[in-house]
Amino acid sequence: MGAIAAALQACQNRIASACHAAGRAEKCARLVAVGKTFPAASIREAYAAGQRVFGESYLQEALPKLEQLADLAIEWHFIGPLQSNKTRQVAAHFDWVHSVEREKIAQRLSEQRPAHMPPLNVCIQVNVSGEASKSGVAPAAALALAQAMATLPNLRLRGFMAIPEPSHDTSLQRSRFRRVAELLQAARTSLDLDTLSMGMSADLEAAIHEGATLVRVGTDIFGARPVIKNNPQERTA
Ligand SMILES: *Cc1c(COP(=O)(O)O)cnc(C)c1O
Repeated sequence: MGAIAAALQACQNRIASACHAAGRAEKCARLVAVGKTFPAASIREAYAAGQRVFGESYLQEALPKLEQLADLAIEWHFIGPLQSNKTRQVAAHFDWVHSVEREKIAQRLSEQRPAHMPPLNVCIQVNVSGEASKSGVAPAAALALAQAMATLPNLRLRGFMAIPEPSHDTSLQRSRFRRVAELLQAARTSLDLDTLSMGMSADLEAAIHEGATLVRVGTDIFGARPVIKNNPQERTA
C-alpha cells in the first residue's frame, strides 16, 4: 500500500473511532480530503485508494488540478476564502462551497451557477472564535444570513462551517464546535439543513463529538504543507 492510501485508511479509522466514541453511527462524518499545495498526482493516488470527495482552498491552484483530474468522478469542495472575482469559476467547477460569509457572494454564486448543473451545495462559514483575522460571519448574524440564502434559486444551503482557533485544549475545541452545532439546531427550526463542516487533522475528534458531518483533512493524509504566509485561513499551531 502506498503512503497516501495508508494515511487515508488511518484517517478513516480515526473518523470511525470518533463516531463510535461519540455514540454516533459508524460513518457519521464524511471525509473531505484537502489536497491544497499537493499535485494532481497525489489526489489521483488518493482516488485510486477509494477517496471521492476532495477539497481545495486556493482557486488559482485548484483550477489546473481540476482540469488534470477531469477524467475522475470527484466531488469537489471549495473551502477557501471567496472574493467576488472568484465566484464565477467556483460556481462553474465545484459541487460544494463551505466558505460563504456574505449575502452578496451567495447571490453571485446563485446567479453564476450554470443552468445545466444541479444547485450548488453551500455552507455558511461562522467565525466561532471571534478572531478578527478569521473569515466568517459572526454567530449572531448567521441565522439571518441563512434565511436570506435559503431563498436563492441555484443554491442548496446545507449548513455551517467553522475553523476555530488552534488549541490543544479539548474542552475549548468542543465548546467552539458546540456553538456551531447549536446554530444548526436553531436554524433547523425553519430551514432544511443537514451539514456541519468542522474538524481538521488536529481536532476532528472534538468536532465529531459535537456533531460534525463533514471533516476536512489535509495534513493527516497528504503530509505537512509549506507554510503560506499571510493566510488567515492557515493554522500553524
Ligand atoms: C487546509 C485546510 C484544511 C485542512 O487542514 P489540515 O490541518 O491540514 O487537516 C481544512 N479546512 C480548511 C478550510 C483548510 O484551508
